[in-house]
Amino acid sequence: MVKASSQQPSVLIEIDSKSGFCFGVSRAVKLAESEMQKGSALASLGDIVHNDEEINRLKQMGMQSVSLSNAGAIQEDTVLFRAHGEPPSSYDAMRQAGKKVVDATCPVVLKLQQRVRDAWQQLRLEGGQLVIYGKQGHAEVIGLVGQTNGEALVVQTEFDLALIDKSKPTVLFAQTTMSYEGLERMEAAIRNQLVPGVAFHTHKTICAQVGNRVPHLKVFAANYDVIFFVGGEHSSNGKVLFTVCEKVNPRTFYISSLTDINENMLTPRPQKIGVCGATSTPQWLMEQVADKLRVMLGLA
Ligand code: SF4
Repeated sequence: MVKASSQQPSVLIEIDSKSGFCFGVSRAVKLAESEMQKGSALASLGDIVHNDEEINRLKQMGMQSVSLSNAGAIQEDTVLFRAHGEPPSSYDAMRQAGKKVVDATCPVVLKLQQRVRDAWQQLRLEGGQLVIYGKQGHAEVIGLVGQTNGEALVVQTEFDLALIDKSKPTVLFAQTTMSYEGLERMEAAIRNQLVPGVAFHTHKTICAQVGNRVPHLKVFAANYDVIFFVGGEHSSNGKVLFTVCEKVNPRTFYISSLTDINENMLTPRPQKIGVCGATSTPQWLMEQVADKLRVMLGLA
């Protein structure tokens, strides 16, 4: 509970205890920090997290983001693979470039890669097809498709169903950060499309760290007059979770940095403010947002 000054009525400002880095992102950031503390020149293959503020913080500590397309030009000796995971070709490229790899692939994603690999090998024997429900071009999906020698079919919307052969045994996996509802819709659409009697199995591989946040945020967002959702400009998980909050609380604002907050957002003066964020939102940034709100409301 935040105490108000004598002139201003009290305002409760609370940070959602379940928001912020998921286990996999938190582990990747700690691995990066500990590698830099050892004095390694470290580069991250792609942005370690979809949050510019956190990337800038790690950049100031010395970590650069690099891309695979110019692996030969990477200056740093050590390259970190982020929580999303990588296809086998990335490991080969780093070996050829003589780089040490710090593998921060989330253990949940590593296990999923193994399951995709095993299922694909079995499907090859049966003449079947492996389908991944996920975002085209997303790093985790690229890593998963890489486990199948590029043969897995990626479906993001029902328009992609045309890729699927109606007569082949089919196994469906999901990118870990998709929604449960979306997976159920896709599963039903594929089942409808397949010739009756064709074998079809779904692995419900959505990560509980993400999936459970939706029902939690629905309750959280409904409890406050105003919600400040803190997320990176390019965070797809952030956009999804923001929409969840906005549906139950139309006075929800998406902010990526402190400069996005303005007086209009606090008019009329709320009594209860909730601060929450995505799986890529650092705790320190949500705390800074709460601190700024206290100052703007004359509470600090
Ligand atoms: S969302 Fe789940 S699978 Fe993805 S990095 Fe976080 S903990 Fe790992």
